[in-house]
Amino acid sequence: MHDFKGKVALVTGASRGIGRAIAVELARGGAAVALNYAGNEAAAAEALALVQAAGAPAARLYRFDVADPAACSRAVEAVVADLGGLHVLVNNAGIAVDQLLMRLKDEDWRRQLDVNLTGAFNLIRAVTRPMMKAKGGAIVNLSSVVGEMGNAGQAAYAATKAGLIGLTKSVARELASRQVRCNAVTPGFIDTDMTAALPEAARQKMLENIPLARLGSAEDVARAVCFLASDDAAYVTGEVLKVNGGMYM
Ligand code: NAP
Repeated sequence: MHDFKGKVALVTGASRGIGRAIAVELARGGAAVALNYAGNEAAAAEALALVQAAGAPAARLYRFDVADPAACSRAVEAVVADLGGLHVLVNNAGIAVDQLLMRLKDEDWRRQLDVNLTGAFNLIRAVTRPMMKAKGGAIVNLSSVVGEMGNAGQAAYAATKAGLIGLTKSVARELASRQVRCNAVTPGFIDTDMTAALPEAARQKMLENIPLARLGSAEDVARAVCFLASDDAAYVTGEVLKVNGGMYM
């Protein structure tokens, strides 16, 4: 567990899966947590209750589409006003529309770029001012092993995740002089709604390529994200941390 006392954190896609686990882990460390989600009210309410039970001194839900730049700016202003600042941003919201390249529709290509990559940019741009005002901050972007090694049927998704690595390193360089750090995590095959739809045969095939011989949990990823978001990683920026059970080294 890392110490986030006195810090305010915004986690996108915090209603379910990895984002929810990150929000809970930040709360356990004492952070006030702003939880973003797209539209699943029941899941968001459940996540909020878990964050409160984990000890967050304050917690609030913010429903908005990360692909909408104006909504992102408004949300960041609201978080600062409601919770008293913004010190940690976790760009976790993401979607995957799996399809072979030949059949991939223009709108599915665009929507994955808009949510996964532009969404992170929208929020990074919006948090720059409050983080500079706070004289420091930490940003963690959820990329993917697929952004490092590619994957058939996921050209668009992989492109967004590879793009996040370039974005992470550029932001790390640009904001370092302001003591704002920016890192990425590349999870492997993690047990969440996103991977639940995989047929059993595909699941078994994936497992054969994981040296640790199990799927990762949302908590496995959350602990790595919280390390990078914490002051324990005060001298770590521009890093891409693999959390993949060894499936890609
Ligand atoms: P998930 O279970 O599908 O949850 C997605 C979350 O993102 C939900 O909270 C959802 O909100 C939110 N969301 C989706 N589109 C959004 C939008 N336009 N604006 C705001 N929020 C939005 O996903 P996950 O498996 O936890 O994955 C989380 C992140 O890790 C993603 O970036 C994913 O690409 C990455 N990742 C996952 C894996 C894996 O194996 N699962 C591996 C590598 C990387 P609602 O609940 O309201 O729909």
